[in-house]
Amino acid sequence: MTFMHDLELYEIIKSFSGDLVALTGAGVSADSGIPTFRDKDGLWNRYRPEELATPQAFARNPELVWEWYAWRMRLIFDAEPNLAHKALALMEKVGLLKAVVTQNVDNLHERAGSRNVIHLHGRIDEMRCVECGNTVCLNEPPESIPPYCECGGMMRPNVVWFGESLPEKELNLAMELCRSSNVIVIGTSAAVQPAASLPYHAKRNGHFVIEINPDVTPLTDLADVSIRERAGKVFEMIYAILKEEEIR
Ligand code: NAD
Ligand code: ZN
Repeated sequence: MTFMHDLELYEIIKSFSGDLVALTGAGVSADSGIPTFRDKDGLWNRYRPEELATPQAFARNPELVWEWYAWRMRLIFDAEPNLAHKALALMEKVGLLKAVVTQNVDNLHERAGSRNVIHLHGRIDEMRCVECGNTVCLNEPPESIPPYCECGGMMRPNVVWFGESLPEKELNLAMELCRSSNVIVIGTSAAVQPAASLPYHAKRNGHFVIEINPDVTPLTDLADVSIRERAGKVFEMIYAILKEEEIR
């Protein structure tokens, strides 16, 4: 089923009375100017993400992998949350949303004001030592590349690479939330497992699934409602309504 009116979407969201979880992918940040892996991003389009975001690539050429992450960090730190991030933050604030489960490594949900954010694929604003596990927060890319820990070990981006397993605590929490809630899936191609199967948990347990994505995905047929539109556009009106209610 597809429909176009943002107001109808807002009515559906309200009808859940807070029993709702958002599952987001790179598409939710596309309207903030952060390219998804499917976009053509100039400087780096000679490389496929699958060739850079892997433990093997890092072992082979840590400088190259770090250069790519430093470039992405700069993009992300300079970007601003868009109306989709902001609307989700307000929805949580007024009790319409339990949590955001994100595949994104950016920090735009947090910067928009979301508090309960579960990062399934780690965070680009952290690095960790490959030897001792020491984790360091970053608000700009490291000065020298590759960066080293006090213990002498090399630091790596604190993200989940292709071929690595997801953090167990976060994955279990996400599965639990999706089993027991309605789910709004925003800007994910549903190509990367196990995140892609999370909406199936909701559906199997009798919950409602909404999808927001300009393109058709493997989830489109499963979704009760599928809105073929950019996330920033879909949440424009919902953000305005929530903002007005907040002021009142
Ligand atoms: P993805 O698999 O989540 O695919 C992106 C999806 O977003 C596509 O289906 C596309 O149709 C959709 N989309 C594009 N513009 C949109 C918009 N304005 N509104 C709504 N949907 C939109 O992401 P990917 O790029 O294939 O990346 C795979 C992995 O890499 C994931 O873990 C992803 O989160 C991560 N990644 C993260 C970031 C980030 O943190 N911002 C950026 C790139 C990739
Ligand atoms: Zn160390």
